[in-house]
Amino acid sequence: MPQKRMAVPAFEFRRIAEDHREEITALAGDLVRIDTTNTGVMPTGNETEAASYLQRTLRAAGIEADVWGRVPERGNLFAALEGHSGRIGLVLVSHSDVVPAGDAAQWIHGPFGGVIADGHLHGRGAADMKGTVAAQTMALILLRRRNVPLAHTVGLVCVADEEAGGAYGMGWVARAHPDRLRAACCLNEGGGSFVRVNGQDWCLLGVGEKGRYEVAATFHGKGAHAARPWQGDNALYRAAAALALLRGYDHERDTSDPIFALLSEVVGPVVPSTVDEVIVRLPRESARLADHLKQVSRMLITPTLISGGVKSNSVPDSCRLTCDVRALPHQGPAYVEDLLRRLLPDADMRIDQTAVANSSPASADILEAASDILHRIFERPIVAVPTLSGGFTDSRFIRELGVRAYGWTPGHPESDPGRHHAHGPNEAVAIQDLVIQTAAYMEMAVRFAAAG
Ligand SMILES: [Zn+2]
Repeated sequence: MPQKRMAVPAFEFRRIAEDHREEITALAGDLVRIDTTNTGVMPTGNETEAASYLQRTLRAAGIEADVWGRVPERGNLFAALEGHSGRIGLVLVSHSDVVPAGDAAQWIHGPFGGVIADGHLHGRGAADMKGTVAAQTMALILLRRRNVPLAHTVGLVCVADEEAGGAYGMGWVARAHPDRLRAACCLNEGGGSFVRVNGQDWCLLGVGEKGRYEVAATFHGKGAHAARPWQGDNALYRAAAALALLRGYDHERDTSDPIFALLSEVVGPVVPSTVDEVIVRLPRESARLADHLKQVSRMLITPTLISGGVKSNSVPDSCRLTCDVRALPHQGPAYVEDLLRRLLPDADMRIDQTAVANSSPASADILEAASDILHRIFERPIVAVPTLSGGFTDSRFIRELGVRAYGWTPGHPESDPGRHHAHGPNEAVAIQDLVIQTAAYMEMAVRFAAAG
């Protein structure tokens, strides 16, 4: 789709969003109060309640919305502001399910109260990602109320089951309703945080994700009575040797992530042999960037589970060690398997790929649009920088369709992301972040849908 550089719209999106701060906050709070805990074991999720609530809210604003699901209780929301071209310019993507709250006693404001305190909305899903669901929904509603003219359609897709693999959410949507995703571009979670380097502000835009593998290595020995252990071969010691080896193992560095090209312009050349040194030299104000650079410059192998033995007085004949492996996009399944088999040659190995590494091109149109929008919203230069995300999201299903997807949920650079506590107790999101997101999504929608 041709992207023409849009003239500054007659609308000031940040001001419009600020004027609707209460409405955005109320919608986000209502969503947090709908318990959509996803344990990964059916029956679970209950996302239809959240999807239906969004459907009613959108319909009340005059926007057509549907709830469809693989099963009735796990609904996915589809809404659209129709353009006249018959093409989709942008789809805003999110998920309505949340991870379990854990021990409610550890929550100061309770996990499902949706309490507003000290400028934040508190509760499970506030940051991941019901606040963004509200911002995306309000962006559509406010565009409709203002009758902003659109050539192309702006879609909204809020799915179930992101937190447990997507079989009832985006995995199903991409198969059953791929046409709702076939846009010039989709925006999802998986980016949008701010980092500082050499006095510059960068906003990370997720263009890809590392792959995730679960490796189960079983070490075999020989059982015996623990009173005569020399008659056996203790499998725990074999696993211990493997653990020691993994602890000392350091995979080769890689600087193919596009962020390193930009970093090189600021701090001098960054190549695999110098990347660790560059990271260590970054000042304190760049701590978040340093953390990110570590993630995207190497494969990570982390032992996470261990089990072995059957009885306290028997020498165990087997021990199973499970590792979480995060691989860069070019380190595919064959590469990972070959590496693990070389590292742990005496183990029986089972390797499951739980998320395929994936990426979209770091295209100029989205990077320019994001930088420009941030510049206008904050009235100072903030550069959108393309990079991988260390975790994974539903974007992999969208990219498999050949559709560009980007991780971008920009908040306010002065908000403290340390308060998000996503997946932990006391999750919270700054209200100002939701206002900024609403403005940013409105403007992004106009940029991708207003071109003639
Ligand atoms: Zn999420």
